[in-house]
Amino acid sequence: MLQHNNGKTQLRLKINLKLHQLTSLLFLALVCLLTFGQTSPYPYSLRPYLTFVLLFSFVALVVKEILYKRQLLPRFFWLMDLLDVATASFIYYLGFFSVNYLIVLYFFLIFLSVREFIPGETHYLTLLSLIGFGINVALLWPNYRILAPIYGMDPVFYGFIVGSAFFSLVFVGVFAYFYAKSDFRLSRHLEQMLAEKEAALKETYLTHANLEEKYAFSYTLTLIQQFLLEEMDETNLLTRITDIIQGIVGSYSCAIFSLDKDNTIRLAAYSGKQLPPDLPEFVQRKDSLVALTIKSQAIHNEKDASFAERNFWAEHNIHSLITIPLSTKNNKLGVILVTSAQTFSFDQEQQEQLMIIANQISLALENTRLHKETKLMAWHDSLTGLYNRNYLNIFLSIVEDSTSNRLGCLIFDLDHFKVVNDTYGHTTGDMVLKKLATILSKHTSPGRIAVRYGGEEFIMLDLNSSMEELYNLGEQIRKEVAAYKFWTATGEEFSITISCGIALDDTGFDKVFAKADTALYQAKNQGRNQVVIYGSRAMETSVN
Ligand code: GH3
Ligand code: MG
Ligand code: MG
Repeated sequence: MLQHNNGKTQLRLKINLKLHQLTSLLFLALVCLLTFGQTSPYPYSLRPYLTFVLLFSFVALVVKEILYKRQLLPRFFWLMDLLDVATASFIYYLGFFSVNYLIVLYFFLIFLSVREFIPGETHYLTLLSLIGFGINVALLWPNYRILAPIYGMDPVFYGFIVGSAFFSLVFVGVFAYFYAKSDFRLSRHLEQMLAEKEAALKETYLTHANLEEKYAFSYTLTLIQQFLLEEMDETNLLTRITDIIQGIVGSYSCAIFSLDKDNTIRLAAYSGKQLPPDLPEFVQRKDSLVALTIKSQAIHNEKDASFAERNFWAEHNIHSLITIPLSTKNNKLGVILVTSAQTFSFDQEQQEQLMIIANQISLALENTRLHKETKLMAWHDSLTGLYNRNYLNIFLSIVEDSTSNRLGCLIFDLDHFKVVNDTYGHTTGDMVLKKLATILSKHTSPGRIAVRYGGEEFIMLDLNSSMEELYNLGEQIRKEVAAYKFWTATGEEFSITISCGIALDDTGFDKVFAKADTALYQAKNQGRNQVVIYGSRAMETSVN
């Protein structure tokens, strides 16, 4: 029935104690004055009563002090109130006052309970007041005859006064109760309104903070996009992005691993505190978080790490981490790894931000890869990987602009290649072309390139060599081709020869090419599997 607000109760009890101490002292002074003063108006017979009340008051004080010291007051506060009521009643009894004075005190207490304390106490104080008043009436009743001459009361009138006093106490209690209730309701209502306002304010503040954070993040995203547009070099691009990620999530370090075509995981960029030296090796393990992330294409954190991996990170003072896959619709591209020295996991918002960045990076990676591939395709022959005629034109435009040097040209053409195709099939023919390309590229150097010029026609252009060197080169290649043993898919062995025409002069590519072609034609005519230099004696004899 009694609700206790502990802080308030404590305060109330403390005030009560102080008041009791003060009133006890005052009372002591008053008693001394009245009882032992020279002109005491009190009859001598009252002295035992006074002493008794004084003692009672002191004993009550001592009880209260003990309860207070032992921190028992909140549990026994009813005892304190009872002691108060009893003391007040005794004092009152001594004075032979009319009931109405004491009732005023009780009214006052009841209303105090409404102002100061929780409404539940109104019941309690009303009840106590009724008890106190009851004690008082019981004490005074035998003496009403003494009072009657003073106040001019007869027993019926006195009974009426007592009855109406009781009734008034009940009435005041009920009134105070309802008053307190409505007061309480009002204050509750106000409190609720305040709480709502506060919540609304808090929400506005949070929304504001959230917006600000989102704005900062979108600014960072714009920065990233700008880098993605400007930076074509993959390593530079990724390193800058790892820096940005570190800035956003405030991590210990950030690494980006890329998945190469042969499925090896390569550390593409790193920023932050010192890179654990064995990290690139560690992530190759099948159960590493990075490998797991590539496989599952889902976000993982330290909780998914194996025992060995957790130890590995702990050794490097890293206690939480997160891995985010990098991928496009069709390709798995790699993983972002963000680590932290703290033991908390990355929160939902950070995860979402990292995922957005991961999408951007994935697109950029795909872009730079496509860019590389397109470049490769534009300048290279797709079957053999040698330069194609597009590149030849670029090479020539640079060479012919910048030098008036002599240009050496070797044209190679496989002998009876058609027969290979017809006998062993086109795929075997392709294999021969690839092998020839391998042999040719082995002999390239700065200033010497190999180009697939047509179907089975290859040329080498040389900026530095003498005719003798070019001839030796042609011969070496011819011999290598002739010595090579090819195997078909069905297990048949065959070999093939090659013819070569060479020309060297400073008249420009078209002319030197035409001369080399004439020499090649000559080589074919003279029985193939040979190298012919344009303008050589061999040519002259054949032309004649
Ligand atoms: P030779 O040059 O010794 O006179 O005889 P050849 O049989 O090599 O003569 P030709 O130039 O007439 O034949 C070229 C053949 O090369 C025709 C074509 O089927 C084949 N060829 C051209 N490009 C490719 C290719 O990419 N792959 C394959 N397998 N064959 C090709
Ligand atoms: Mg040909
Ligand atoms: Mg041929």
